[in-house]
Amino acid sequence: MKTTPKPQIIDKFGREHTYLRISLTDRCNLRCFYCMPEDGIELTDKSGIMTLEEIVSIAKTFRSLGVDTIRLTGGEPLIRKNAEWLIRELADLGVTLKLTTNGIILDKYFDLFKEIGLKRINISLDTLEKSKSVFITKRDYFDRIMKNIHTAIDQDFDIKLNIVLIKGVNDMEINDFVDLTRNKNIGVKFIEFMPFKGNEWDWDKGVSKEEILNIVRSKFGEYKKLKDPKHSTSTNFKVPDFEGSFGIVSTITNPFCAGCNRIRLTADGKMKNCLFATAETDLLTPYRNGESISDTILNSIKEKKFSRDGMDVEMKKEHYEQNRSMTSIGG
Ligand code: SAM
Ligand code: SF4
Repeated sequence: MKTTPKPQIIDKFGREHTYLRISLTDRCNLRCFYCMPEDGIELTDKSGIMTLEEIVSIAKTFRSLGVDTIRLTGGEPLIRKNAEWLIRELADLGVTLKLTTNGIILDKYFDLFKEIGLKRINISLDTLEKSKSVFITKRDYFDRIMKNIHTAIDQDFDIKLNIVLIKGVNDMEINDFVDLTRNKNIGVKFIEFMPFKGNEWDWDKGVSKEEILNIVRSKFGEYKKLKDPKHSTSTNFKVPDFEGSFGIVSTITNPFCAGCNRIRLTADGKMKNCLFATAETDLLTPYRNGESISDTILNSIKEKKFSRDGMDVEMKKEHYEQNRSMTSIGG
């Protein structure tokens, strides 16, 4: 294990940023309605997207500034051409590598992940019903995704299922998801519906942490609160005697910004110091001009607001409509 340089990406609240989420592409093979606007997104043309070599090099700079964990995301990260080469190079940096994927082509990567030690995989699965999956994702890949999830669990990957809850769509499946943790050591992570450009967010469609816990309690009785890992974005629980656990990402009703250690790098090389940041810092242009980007990164983090890019109390439409859609940020 290579030693991690001292954390240097520190904001004015003293938060050390050691976790980088890299979007490998803004393209996706699904069209989840809460993520992708109805008319799709304007894709960046190829020349504006970081090449694989540029991603590695920019990631090395982040590493030198104390980043110890990199999560690959997108769009759908696994559809990026030659992702295998990139993943090997990033693993070589000595960071903990993690992945968020929709799972469609995960089977092509199991051997590679075992070889390089990538264990932590979050797979998005909003429903356990095939017809509903087609409704949510506008594509028919449910059987393939389920097969890959089962294989990943059998092969001992550390699996979390990401579920974005939308009232009237999948909230009635909350307890079915929790039931999956009865005999399997997996995590199910319920995510409160968040607002981004063009996703027609309306909190009336959202399901709060409190509602989720009440629903779980109504079926399984009193659940147990688990100790959350440092910097965790979810509050974690367990039904006593169940093997796995469940967590809730309560960005809307109970934001967890105080412990935030995350930075995002979009596929077109922009650094976002917060998921909701409307201001972005271009790293790719100075990098291509041969300039050092370390100071640019350190200055960008100093601009970070304490919570949700300044939307401390409520989500404001005039603010989040200036952000990108989730698929182009890299959630
Ligand atoms: N394509 C991959 C996937 O679906 O896992 C990675 C990218 S996706 C943007 C990352 C995560 O963001 C997914 O778990 C997805 O469910 C979540 N997400 C997308 N839009 C969201 C929204 N409006 N609110 C909350 N979570 C959202
Ligand atoms: Fe694609 Fe993931 Fe967004 Fe679904 S949630 S449209 S799979 S990027």
